[in-house]
Amino acid sequence: MQVGVVTSFETKGHAELRNLRLVDVEEGVVRAGLAIRIRDGVIEAIIPDDGSSEGSGTSGLPVLDMGGAFVAPGLINMHTHFSLSLPGPVGERLESMDPAGIALYMADGARRTLHNGVTTVRCVAEKGHADFALREAIGSGWVQGPRIYTAGRALVCTGGHGHSSDDTMECDGADEFARGVRTQIRAGADLIKIMISGGIAGEHETISTPQLTTDEMAAAISTAHAWGRKVTAHAGPAAVIAEAVRLGLDCVEHGYELTAEVCRAMAENGTALVPTLIVTRSGAFFDELGVPQWMQQRSLGAGERHIASYRMALEAGVDVLLGSDMPPFWPFEGTSAVVRELEHMHDFGLDAARTLRAGTLAPARWLGIDDQTGSIAEGKWADLIALPEDPLASPSALRDLDFVMQGGVVVRDDGRATPGTEER
Ligand SMILES: [Zn+2]
Repeated sequence: MQVGVVTSFETKGHAELRNLRLVDVEEGVVRAGLAIRIRDGVIEAIIPDDGSSEGSGTSGLPVLDMGGAFVAPGLINMHTHFSLSLPGPVGERLESMDPAGIALYMADGARRTLHNGVTTVRCVAEKGHADFALREAIGSGWVQGPRIYTAGRALVCTGGHGHSSDDTMECDGADEFARGVRTQIRAGADLIKIMISGGIAGEHETISTPQLTTDEMAAAISTAHAWGRKVTAHAGPAAVIAEAVRLGLDCVEHGYELTAEVCRAMAENGTALVPTLIVTRSGAFFDELGVPQWMQQRSLGAGERHIASYRMALEAGVDVLLGSDMPPFWPFEGTSAVVRELEHMHDFGLDAARTLRAGTLAPARWLGIDDQTGSIAEGKWADLIALPEDPLASPSALRDLDFVMQGGVVVRDDGRATPGTEER
């Protein structure tokens, strides 16, 4: 099942990519001697590369010489907020913008996200439903950005996690949560996000504050499922997660305080984890934003338990997926937040091949779009990145990605395949 609504996508390029090493994320191997033929934005065929620069003669497609680069599928970031406003002066400026300002700010972030190799995102709480306009604008080719799957506003109890911003909708009681789900779906939501516990950025709560009742979670999850939408939950403590998993929750965000027991339940139920490890190891970034001390302390203080939770999830065989939470394009310890997150996922226990899969094919499967993206295969969108080193050896290779293609159209090329464009 593909989640939510199907947005048409106008970016449809043609090309034949040659002189490359194809990164097969499904098998975890690099394949040499192949060329990728792209027509109407889709990978039409993967064919032997005969080494000529003339194309394969019959195709008539423009040939891009990739200079021996590793070509991998575009990344998929499952925890994105283009309109994220954390406490502090930078967040306050965003909070003071009108809807037009927010939309433009988000469009800029979307373009930069795409240029950093992220060709699909899952948005999990955006302000003012501007995400739906942005999805439409990107799909129509008016602005550049990744393909968007979005939850619209996140559903939260009165005073709950994130309640003070326009990217949440307050609900209380089962009926209001059902209404909240329907309200987001009416607006165009592809999935539903619920806040079932406290978190790092809420002043009046702790990470372990449970916030939704069983009835509220049951109403949200059953209503969403009845309408064909998956549900993900911002969640810290194990007890409330166990309850939500029992009710059919599809995905856990953060999972700061998991236990081995709840991890086993998640694995059995097929509930994925988007660990967002970066949010408890972001001191320099928080300083840059002027985030207050109480939040910094809570964030960094949760770090050790967060990693222990992540390791338990890996041990239990939970499906883990890439999600940065922080703006995916933001310069972060010498790279982007998404690449830094992949490095953390790798450093704390996931092998390099599974790490790359957690940022490509595994999210595509969760979204139900793995017949369209997530790996390089015939019939899938030509959403590709290129880099000089092998990302199956280390995710740090992604620090040097220098080429991004979306739907067969080159959207970034630092001089690899075509003379001189782009930037970041
Ligand atoms: Zn978040």
